[in-house]
Amino acid sequence: MSESMTATNLPDLASNLMMAAVGLRELVLQAEVVTSPLELGPVCYKVEESAQLLETFADQISKADRVIREGQPVARTLHDGMPWGDAAEPGAVLTLHQLLALAGSRHRSEDSIPYLDGVRSAAQAEPYVSSRVWRSSSTREQRERLVAAYRQACSTCRAVPGRPCVTKSGRVMTEVHQPRLRAAE
Ligand SMILES: [Zn+2]
Repeated sequence: MSESMTATNLPDLASNLMMAAVGLRELVLQAEVVTSPLELGPVCYKVEESAQLLETFADQISKADRVIREGQPVARTLHDGMPWGDAAEPGAVLTLHQLLALAGSRHRSEDSIPYLDGVRSAAQAEPYVSSRVWRSSSTREQRERLVAAYRQACSTCRAVPGRPCVTKSGRVMTEVHQPRLRAAE
């Protein structure tokens, strides 16, 4: 793990997801009325769906944060009877959906435990790094570089911070000009 890896607290993550959803809803409004005769209805539906998905995640992450902070009882075993956390081999941290399901399930009180008590070893190793960081095809460092590059202006195509690079013919690029990447280092 690199020293520069910053950890995000769950309330901040939830509120950032909500902000991103607001941005997506703004894009739907833009795509609904365009200057050329092009039907963007299907695009609007998809972007709208993405906004709803982000809102759902924000809501679920807020709920999970309360379960964790308030030490609400969480069932000691998954629905298939398998243990989780320090009781599992190897230690298994719950996913968002597992945590909400186990916190919401009706169970006898002796079969439940505050979440952080069940994942002591992972909680001590804070911050927690998603398994995605190890599995993803692009490294965390590569993705951090890309985000940092977008925060800079591009000296090649004159894209301002936050805007994508464009080709000489004005087409939006899905990649970033190399000097912009280097400027972010
Ligand atoms: Zn550029």
